[in-house]
Amino acid sequence: MSIDVTNPATRAVVGTISVQTPEEVSVASAKLRAEQPAWEALGPKGRGEWLRKFRDWLLDNESHLIDVLCSETGKPRTEAALEIMVICDGINYYAERAPKILAEESIRPAGLLTASKKLTKIYRPHPVVGVITPWNFPLLIPGMDAVPALLAGCAVLVKPSESTPLSALELLRGWREIDAPPVLAVVTGLGGTGAAVVDNVDIVQFTGSTRTGRLIAARAGERLIPCCVELGGKDPALVLADADLERAANGIAWAALMNSGQACISVERVYVEASVHDRFVGLLTEKVGALRQGAETRPSDIDVGAMATPAQAEIVRTHVKDAVARGAKVVAGGNLVDGGAFFEPTVLTGVDHTMICMTEETFGPTIPVMKVRDADEAIRWANDSEYGLSATVWTRDEARGARIARRLEAGAVNINDAYVNLFCFGLPHGGWKSSGIGARLGGAAGMRKYCRQQAVTTPRIPLAKAEVMWFPYSPRRVGLVARILRLLVARDLSRRVGRSAGR
Ligand code: NAD
Repeated sequence: MSIDVTNPATRAVVGTISVQTPEEVSVASAKLRAEQPAWEALGPKGRGEWLRKFRDWLLDNESHLIDVLCSETGKPRTEAALEIMVICDGINYYAERAPKILAEESIRPAGLLTASKKLTKIYRPHPVVGVITPWNFPLLIPGMDAVPALLAGCAVLVKPSESTPLSALELLRGWREIDAPPVLAVVTGLGGTGAAVVDNVDIVQFTGSTRTGRLIAARAGERLIPCCVELGGKDPALVLADADLERAANGIAWAALMNSGQACISVERVYVEASVHDRFVGLLTEKVGALRQGAETRPSDIDVGAMATPAQAEIVRTHVKDAVARGAKVVAGGNLVDGGAFFEPTVLTGVDHTMICMTEETFGPTIPVMKVRDADEAIRWANDSEYGLSATVWTRDEARGARIARRLEAGAVNINDAYVNLFCFGLPHGGWKSSGIGARLGGAAGMRKYCRQQAVTTPRIPLAKAEVMWFPYSPRRVGLVARILRLLVARDLSRRVGRSAGR
């Protein structure tokens, strides 16, 4: 069976992929497993050299990669270019740090009991990592997740979304063109192919919907393999009365509408203090109304691109329709365009939490704005969500913004900015509540999560033929050991010299 890949902006067929069977996935995984030990043996420096060559290939092929990325998503070239740069930046960040992050750690014995041992903590890669990805950032997400895994010494099996598989196949083409060891593979297909990946790898890094994330976490639980699931969001923006409203309107318009709002961390709802509500809405409406939308014919002749799929456009339409039916006002946009290829950048006012546009993930170019009494009320509504991916706070008082961040139930909070935590590789990107388990990136943790920790003890002193607590037990030796242990663990004299209860 095969699937046509279409450009959502033009509906042209831009590629065809096969739906790979569980047997094919199993074969792909077995091949990776066979190649992984040699890759691990290269060490972090050797692997870093390959990743740096790969970075150069990405940069040398930028224009073609952007073509492919835009052809399957209908997004503006500017946004596509960003995906490549973030992967390259991630390679630089992790390749430089991998030797230190993966270095064996010497652990000081914590007490006299183990003082005769040399203790070492070792990071050993999970042999095969399954990276399952969605359609919204088809190059960035597989790239960003594969990089630290490859550098950690793992082999990586990528399963891209069936809607946008071509960019991940380009990554594979690049890996092969630089003649890197065959420790990266891509399998294509629908959910069944993804499920087969979960069944054939040693750890899963999943990005996608909360619904699929739950299925994957359940299956990973059955197989007793670790999984990290990066899921949906309903990110709030809090606009306080003292905010720079011009910056807030510009920032929120971009953060809500970039990639046509089809980003897990896009702003999906806005709470504005009553005293500045009307001014903010005026500015936001003006900015949103000026955006250019359509199929890009020349670089940067549009700001907002297509909806990835007609089904996604339909969800957005349903959310807007529901809001209007419950009393919301459309002050910009509000319509499907070109039979559902596009959805107009939309601003809604008079919204509340009875409307699905404020409670369910819309994943489209809508900005519902709700008037609130004060910051406390904004925080309450912001936390009134099953999701907890990220949030933004807009205020001139940055210290107050930072205090508010500590009251928000979200994996990341950007003050007077949006998205930026994702580009700070030292910070984790992960969701709370139904937005996920675990996190990607986050400095050393973002690479060590692809490793199993191994504890090794080595004697420091010559050994007797048997340890005092080995068989056979004798009352005299057991008594002696008990007295020594008591001496070591008790923290006051009477307990040090006393006898154990019951003896
Ligand atoms: P999706 O869950 O439908 O699909 C994601 C991937 O999972 C696809 O490759 C799909 O084929 C595969 N899949 C489907 N069923 C599967 C199964 N049973 N087992 C294994 N794999 C299976 O998600 P989508 O519609 O492609 O993406 C949109 C969602 O992704 C949104 O909810 C968005 O918020 C989320 N997302 C989250 C992040 C994040 O970092 N938190 C980033 C981007 C997107």
